[in-house]
Amino acid sequence: MKKFFCLSIFICGLLLSSCSSSSIAGSILSAKEGSETADGRMIDTEASKITGNSDSTATSRPIPEPTLTMTAAPTLTQTPTPTPSLTPSPTSTPTAPDLISFSYSDLHQGVQPVAYIEDPCDYLISRWDEDKSAPGTIVVPIMFHSVAKPGREITDSTTISVAYLDYFMERAKTLGFSTITTEELIGFLESNEKIPERSMILILDDRRPGVIEEYFMPYLEENDWTLTLAWPTTDATSNSLWERMESLAETGYLDVQSHGHDHIYIQDYTPLEEIEEEVYQPIEVIQSHFGTTPRALIWPGGNFNQISVQLAQEAGFKLGFTVFSRGPVMYNWIPLGPQETAMGAPLLVLPRFWSTAADAALEKALQIVEEARVAAEILKAEELAYIASYCQPQDGD
Ligand SMILES: [Zn+2]
Repeated sequence: MKKFFCLSIFICGLLLSSCSSSSIAGSILSAKEGSETADGRMIDTEASKITGNSDSTATSRPIPEPTLTMTAAPTLTQTPTPTPSLTPSPTSTPTAPDLISFSYSDLHQGVQPVAYIEDPCDYLISRWDEDKSAPGTIVVPIMFHSVAKPGREITDSTTISVAYLDYFMERAKTLGFSTITTEELIGFLESNEKIPERSMILILDDRRPGVIEEYFMPYLEENDWTLTLAWPTTDATSNSLWERMESLAETGYLDVQSHGHDHIYIQDYTPLEEIEEEVYQPIEVIQSHFGTTPRALIWPGGNFNQISVQLAQEAGFKLGFTVFSRGPVMYNWIPLGPQETAMGAPLLVLPRFWSTAADAALEKALQIVEEARVAAEILKAEELAYIASYCQPQDGD
């Protein structure tokens, strides 16, 4: 009998059941207006539609503040605060206890880690399988936009300087981070497949071949890293741009994923046919130009709603990314705000950090992971006992 769920799934369920469609709509609307305050930086400054091939992107929306608050660091001497305890109910019947999931005290207000593996046995067996990722393995998703040439004045908060990109890449390497692909992230999140303990997925939004060639490619080649592209497949793409991108993809360093077809910011009034085209069309286009099938949908403008999330799942997308910098992700542990939680599909609304504070995102991840590892050690004996007691094959299974 596997009828017990992780505590956070229960909480998630409560949230879901109390979330009316109007409040969902309200929360989505507030995202577009840029009023998100839990982390204060959800606004995508991309143009709502892409029509040219320019490396730079028009900025017609409010600008997020850099995520400086992410650097608030707890003192090193402080004992990690996880207080996990498995407390089997004092009963003689063979009922499985609730599992306590790891929580981290320094997430932004309103952000909660959400578990999504429904069967606790599936979760625990994968978690403690020595051939899989060790507890404490973490992935930091980071989104990039423009990179300004030396001397160019930076007038928006999505652009970073070459000097900062160089600093970040070196810092990531020093801290022991390396990149993973979308496919690897899917394996990790779904079944804890082995990835580097300190992983990041670097996502470059929109169409910036010059930025790829000039600034990212040297690092990709040097470290054998991957750059994931959030690529809008619009019909406005010239043949020469397709050829340029196809030859870049042939290097093997790019991981081309969907960023919609016409880069439409999905709103509640967006016609269904338009949402369908945004979700389905890029699959064919990416297949025809790159020979691969996109499995991640990076929501244009960070906009999503219940319909688009459902369509994305039906279309075969396994992951979706927002522009909310909620935190790094771990196996069965996705920090989400209320808007994403309300979708009921955590993997389709994954957080991403802004490139303007990318190094702070890595530092933050290391703090979280340290506590997560301690928590896992504390829970290990009890979780293994749980597996032994409740996760053995039974007659009829
Ligand atoms: Zn975009």
